[in-house]
Amino acid sequence: MTGPTGDVLPGPALAGPTEADWAAAVAAVRRLPTGARVLLVCHVNPDGDALGSMLGFGLGLRRLGVRQLQATFPGPPEVPEPLRWLPGLDLLVPAAEAYPDPDLVVCFDAASASRLGELADRLDTAGEALVLDHHASNTGFGRLHLVDPGAAATSVVAEELLGRLDVPLDAEIAACLYVALTTDTGSFRFEATTPAVHQLAARLLATGIRPGDISRQVFDTRPFGAVRLFGEVLGRAVLDCPAAAGHGLVWTYATMDDLVRHDQRPYVLESLIDSVRCTAEADVACVLKQVGPEEWAVSLRSKGAVDVSRVAMALGGGGHRFAAGFTGLGSAQKVLGRIRAELDGALITS
Ligand code: 5GP
Ligand code: MN
Repeated sequence: MTGPTGDVLPGPALAGPTEADWAAAVAAVRRLPTGARVLLVCHVNPDGDALGSMLGFGLGLRRLGVRQLQATFPGPPEVPEPLRWLPGLDLLVPAAEAYPDPDLVVCFDAASASRLGELADRLDTAGEALVLDHHASNTGFGRLHLVDPGAAATSVVAEELLGRLDVPLDAEIAACLYVALTTDTGSFRFEATTPAVHQLAARLLATGIRPGDISRQVFDTRPFGAVRLFGEVLGRAVLDCPAAAGHGLVWTYATMDDLVRHDQRPYVLESLIDSVRCTAEADVACVLKQVGPEEWAVSLRSKGAVDVSRVAMALGGGGHRFAAGFTGLGSAQKVLGRIRAELDGALITS
């Protein structure tokens, strides 16, 4: 069995939801009384899988007749520009306006409650708490769990639940789930791209959505300022061959000042790691994105020699074996030093 980004998963402990788990989740939705308030929450700084699985599922709930329905995420209520066309955006409310005590809260793509930021309290105040996720590192927060580490994206779990709720796929739901699926499989390039992933993609495409248009909007469009910003940030990348016991580390950083100078929003930096990780001479790639004077959102990727989720978890974050992240405090050099020190202990030996 493989997980996101090619993670080879051990046996039954990570087997994914049981029939009883699915039945409990279906029952939690089916028993909602008329007028029930449902809150959907995805992780901070949402990506295509977080927003796509949440909004796709939300549109499905709307089709089921749920009227009091909100979708939200912690932090500033800003949707990255490439995702600002997604169907279902009208479900979004700022975190401060989210129901304080919904009848049901459903969480998407968050491996831990901390990823829900100021909205984590809803796990306690809601009548029921259902978690849809695909991180092997999921901490088991919430009460009902549909966590499948073998799923390529959280949208795989969301689509199955919609199917079990007898919600037919339409083009709007499909567009959301397709964005989620392509985001987390790197457009069907990662190891997690199983036959089942392509079968799901086929079901989604059969609704009439246009993959060329979607991919161009989500992955292949950015402001000219971002192109120049990438040039500058890639120009200062460092190749550290001895790191990770000789497997090599390539890294760079982008400051808040870089963003200001090029008049860019932080989301443009999310795809920067893809331009860095293609370095042939390094197994591990790292991008430090400044989010405060002494605070960095760190992205880590590996090609297979290092379990970067172990590095990220050791430094307070999480993620998948070959794609992980954490928040680092201090100077960029200090954060990098901590990462470098963790790499040797995270080598994959078997
Ligand atoms: P990215 O580098 O694309 O932001 O994130 C890669 C993976 O690491 C994603 O699966 C994401 O969930 C996880 N991740 C990124 N940043 C953090 C973090 O600060 N905390 C945790 N727990 N996971 C993170
Ligand atoms: Mn995901």
